[in-house]
Parts: sequence; structure tokens; C-alpha cells
Amino acid sequence: MDFSNIPDIQIFVGVAVALVAVGVGAFYLFSSKKPKASLDTENFKGFKLVKRDQLSHNVAKFKFELPTPTSVLGLPIGQHISCRGKDGQGEDVIKPYTPTTLDSDVGYFELVIKMYPQGRMSHHFREMRVGDYLAVRGPKGRFKYQPGEVRAFGMLAGGSGITPMFQVARAILENPNDKTKVHLIYANVTYEDILLKEELDGLTANYPDQFKIFYVLNQPPEVWDGGVGFVSKEMIETHFPAPAHDVKILRCGPPPMNKAMAAHLEAIGYAPEMQFQF
Ligand SMILES: Cc1cc2nc3c(=O)[nH]c(=O)nc-3n(C[C@H](O)[C@H](O)[C@H](O)COP(=O)(O)OP(=O)(O)OC[C@H]3O[C@@H](n4cnc5c(N)ncnc54)[C@H](O)[C@@H]3O)c2cc1C
Repeated sequence: MDFSNIPDIQIFVGVAVALVAVGVGAFYLFSSKKPKASLDTENFKGFKLVKRDQLSHNVAKFKFELPTPTSVLGLPIGQHISCRGKDGQGEDVIKPYTPTTLDSDVGYFELVIKMYPQGRMSHHFREMRVGDYLAVRGPKGRFKYQPGEVRAFGMLAGGSGITPMFQVARAILENPNDKTKVHLIYANVTYEDILLKEELDGLTANYPDQFKIFYVLNQPPEVWDGGVGFVSKEMIETHFPAPAHDVKILRCGPPPMNKAMAAHLEAIGYAPEMQFQF
């Protein structure tokens, strides 16, 4: 092609347009590869509550908007956030929570919260209305999941302690390259107390060879094929992979449960490095 007849200004404009196009393309390519994390480890940032669904008399799902529709929270798998609020006396309270959403859920994050009648942060969540802002800081935590770090997880969850387990299990199961097996024992008082039941049963149905759940209830309904009472040493032996260097047991529940589970795990022979308590 002969450029000699084209005026200089047209060449200049043509080159400029091409450069801008390349720049915009590179920007989008780069930003779509690594969306900006919304969290700040040092400072609390406010996130707007956009939806609140009451799941039972004392459990609700809270959906918070991220700064832009393509933002991600930026929470590594296995870590949690600190939420700050005011208790019934108007005093500041900070508690850890694990979103049930992952960074594959863009533009928002969700928390499933169990609200205790006398609970301090529970009071804050009970009072929150759509349009209010929640102060959040993070990521926090000593555990960061790396795909393939173990052959199998045993997860011991009690009540709202299910949320960190759900986050790790979802990340494993939704990653087609991650073949880690997940065995969950989930304890609650009554059937109605089981959090995320539909989501958990959905994961079992979709990944039957990789994910197994054993529910345990203190007060089971008349027809019940799960465990009854507190989680026992025998239940753990039956439903978890045997102690091995490539097995890890994760625990998250109320303090008395965590203590009882630590004793069971030690008696079965899981070494301290095979265990992690959230
Ligand atoms: C890593 C991690 C992730 C978590 N993720 C979630 C989550 O996603 N969702 C969720 O709902 N929870 C989660 N939790 C639990 C959460 O952090 C809070 O502990 C929970 O919400 C209760 O806080 P609170 O301030 O409302 O209650 P608190 O004020 O701590 O009280 C909780 C209950 O204990 C009772 N209580 C308080 N003090 C005493 C006492 N001295 N003696 C006897 N009873 C007492 C209260 O009456 C109330 O019934 C998580 C915890 C951890 C460690």
C-alpha cells in the first residue's frame, strides 16, 4: 500500500486511534484477569446491604454490594472477614464471619448469620436494614487453602461453624482440576437449625464421589437417618479418612464442641499438624 498520498494528519490520527484501542484492550484484558479486591486489611470499609432474606426464626442471609458490578471481595479460600457493629448497649463489637460466596460471585458477597437472643454482634445484624452499611475489614485468618495440598479433608462443623467449611468445600468442588475429597460431619440441635441444608445437599448430589455429609442432631425428628446426640469418636472413625500425612481435619463450632472434638481426634491418632481449628 502506498502511504505517500495520505496527508500526515490522517496518519497521525490513525496511529493515535490504534494506540488508544490497544491501550483500552490491554486495560480490559488486565482488569478482567485480576479484578480489584474490595477488602482492606488495615481499615474498615462500608458495604451496603442490598437484600436481606430471613431463612428461619433466627437465621438470615445478608447480601452486600461491592463497589462496582465487576468487583470481587478478594478473600482467599479458608480466610474470613472481621465485621464491626454496635451491641445492645451501643458499644463497638467486632466478630469474624465467612461469606458463603466466593470470588467467582462478582459484584456482591453474602453472609448467612445466626442471631442469638443475647448475642452482641447478633444485635447489630438483627437491627440492619436494606440500605445500611456494614463495616468490614480483612482478609483474616491463619488458614489459606491451596488446591491439592491434601488428599482429603474431614470437616467437623457445629451450627454457624458450617460457613468456613462451605466456603472451602465449594471452592474445591467447583474447581474441575481439584480432586480433593471432602467428608463433612455437621452437628446441630434440631433439624430446623441446619444452615445451608439445600446448598449442602446440592453439592452432595452434584459431586457424589467427592463430597459426603453426615448430619448429627441432638433432637432428631421422628424419621431420621443421621447421627443422634453429640458427635462421637465412633462417628468420626466411620465417616472420616483415617489419620495420614495427606489428610487434614478442620474444626469450627462452639467452644465446648471444639474441645470435645479435639479430644476425639487425638484419641483416634490425628497428629496436631493434621488438624486446624478456625
Ligand atoms: C472463622 C469464623 C467464621 C464464622 N462465620 C460465621 C458465619 O458466617 N455466620 C455466623 O452466624 N457466625 C459465624 N461465626 C461465629 C461468629 O463469629 C460469632 O461468634 C457469632 O455470630 C456470635 O456472636 P455474637 O456477638 O452475636 O454473640 P456473643 O455475644 O458472642 O454470644 C453468643 C451466644 O453465647 C451466649 N454467651 C455469650 N457470652 C456468654 C457467657 N459468658 N456464658 C454463657 N453464654 C454466653 C450468648 O447469650 C449467645 O447466645 C464464625 C466464627 C468464626 C471463628
